[in-house]
Amino acid sequence: MPHFYFDHNATTPVSPEVMETLVPCLAEVYGNPSSIHHFGQAAKQRLEAARRQVAALLGANPNEIVFTSGGTESDNLAILGIVRSARGERKHVATTEIEHPAVLGACAQLEREGVEVTRVPVGRSGVVEPDDIRRALKPYTTLVSVMHANNETGAVQPVEEIAKIAHDGGGWLHVDGVQAAGKIPVDAGALGADLYTVSGHKLYAPKGAGALYVRKGTPLGSIVFGGRHERERRPGTENVPGIVAMGRAAAWMSGNLAAEAVRLAALRDRLERGILDRVPASGVNGAAESRTPNTTNIHFDDIEGEALVIALDLRGFAVSTGAACSSGAIEPSHVLMAMGLSKERAKASIRFSLGRGNDAEQVDALIEAVAASVEHLRRLSPVNTRRETVHA
Ligand SMILES: *Cc1c(COP(=O)(O)O)cnc(C)c1O
Repeated sequence: MPHFYFDHNATTPVSPEVMETLVPCLAEVYGNPSSIHHFGQAAKQRLEAARRQVAALLGANPNEIVFTSGGTESDNLAILGIVRSARGERKHVATTEIEHPAVLGACAQLEREGVEVTRVPVGRSGVVEPDDIRRALKPYTTLVSVMHANNETGAVQPVEEIAKIAHDGGGWLHVDGVQAAGKIPVDAGALGADLYTVSGHKLYAPKGAGALYVRKGTPLGSIVFGGRHERERRPGTENVPGIVAMGRAAAWMSGNLAAEAVRLAALRDRLERGILDRVPASGVNGAAESRTPNTTNIHFDDIEGEALVIALDLRGFAVSTGAACSSGAIEPSHVLMAMGLSKERAKASIRFSLGRGNDAEQVDALIEAVAASVEHLRRLSPVNTRRETVHA
């Protein structure tokens, strides 16, 4: 049975051109970039070339890019690195209820360290209202952290407006751009971000490499201590192959993002229309207008999302609920709950995230599989049996 991948927001396969760069790099570029000999300098050159490629994707200067192990570390470095090194008795962070666990977890850690944290809610659209950020600010707000695009719904946040509000209030702005970089055009400086997170494995590079854009003049402290790598912001011998791969992936995105975004948006819309036409009591979660081109999040009333993920997997399609599985119990997605969905509807929702390997034929097959699986699950569901009896 063929398997088709519709879970690109969780991670992406390594693309052919990244493989072409990565494999010889693993074999040949093994020097430590801190070494002064030939091998070290060859690695250093590759590292700096990757830095220029990642910087170009973000409209940044190469010396504003710090390499890390991924999105989670970049988020932690940005949030902990700014707030811990800020002066003042009282410190405050404003973030949102729909952030990735990497941001929410770093903020929760700061709370344990005595920092005040405000989590701003969102409405049905899944988009943060800039005025709500304004109202959340305090005279001692150190940092505002808002994601550029949400990983579960694709909702694109009004980062530019939020940047102005954060800066007017005397705070710094961190943006988790993991789901935006490579999907929509990004100019970190023009957006007004002081810190901007990206992750290689969401961009068709392998896991284990990420970057943090740090705007010139942003007072970022380190959260790990050791050597003087990455301008003393991130000690440790760099993951050279991972970073080189991420650079290649970023370069591909810089050249192909516009065309790929158009292609993916058309496929996503085809999928969405197909599902909504075929499946009764289904609907899109969040606003359709302001989204990344590859993502749709759809609820199927009276269905357990997990059961649908498994049913689709058996038919050869990989999708996700986006919800975290904690202590064996399936929790409804914190993002969908923040958007005001009922617990039942949140648990009945599926995220479809498209990518480079998908085409119209796969989308059409997925629509058929969703329609058949939902019908089957609803026939089995006691809730539905009851309903049909009521309607009859
Ligand atoms: C995947 C993801 C992260 C974490 O990135 P890793 O590289 O997996 O640590 C952070 N934020 C968002 C929005 C993500 O989608």
